[in-house]
Amino acid sequence: MGHLISIASGKGGTGKTTTTANLSIALGKLGKKVLAVDADLTMANLSLVMGIDDAEPTLHDVLAGEATVDEVVYQTRYENVDLIPAAIDWEHVKKADPRKLPVVIKPLKDRYDFVLIDCPAGLQMDAMNAMLSGEEVILVTNPEIACIADTMKVGIVLKKAGLAVLGFVLNRYGRSENDIPPEAAEEVMEVPLLAVVPEDPKVREATLEGVPVVEYAPESEGARAFMKLAEEVIRIA
Ligand code: ADP
Ligand code: MG
Repeated sequence: MGHLISIASGKGGTGKTTTTANLSIALGKLGKKVLAVDADLTMANLSLVMGIDDAEPTLHDVLAGEATVDEVVYQTRYENVDLIPAAIDWEHVKKADPRKLPVVIKPLKDRYDFVLIDCPAGLQMDAMNAMLSGEEVILVTNPEIACIADTMKVGIVLKKAGLAVLGFVLNRYGRSENDIPPEAAEEVMEVPLLAVVPEDPKVREATLEGVPVVEYAPESEGARAFMKLAEEVIRIA
């Protein structure tokens, strides 16, 4: 049986999509069979980050009743990693029913070691539909108090909803000297710290190239942190 893991946070721009892409590829490198799902239905960009353009049909077509799940699972160029992309145009967004997300995603658990679900930020309905498609959750926060507080709130709500909170990733650490240190962040979050990913220009450069950093610059600090995250996820899963 595989793991269905939602990648979630309280605020946008914390690094959910970056984490989903890199953790997927890192787990794939470690021999796990992985499916990455772009469940951020209004701000989809996972396929862009993973370097897959113009996939058609997408998850939106499934949610509109116009395609089957099997038609939207794409092999990627990364070893052991498949992807379900989402559409970026408004016409598709309008037609898709986000409430169907859990019904579409949950059965995929049997086919992979890990299904990673890239979710929208916050606790609005579109985010809830995506996050509740998982059974476990990894939270992604930046080392700022407002971001940590919002992400903690998401963790509490998801725990109440029955998801197992595996822990959190402290991403973009070291950007400012006012950053909350990892130990303090862990104390506030009250869930395990899975990895500290430093602020690394290579991560952003990799995003622009459409090749996530674990593949683009495997020796970089950012890539090493995501590989360590994958090892930790395998250890606790
Ligand atoms: P989210 O999906 O949570 O909205 P993204 O993963 O899209 O956030 O990340 C937002 C931006 O931050 C992207 O441009 C990404 O390249 C950049 N970014 C994410 N993590 C890091 C990091 N550790 N170091 C530098 N830039 C990062
Ligand atoms: Mg995102």
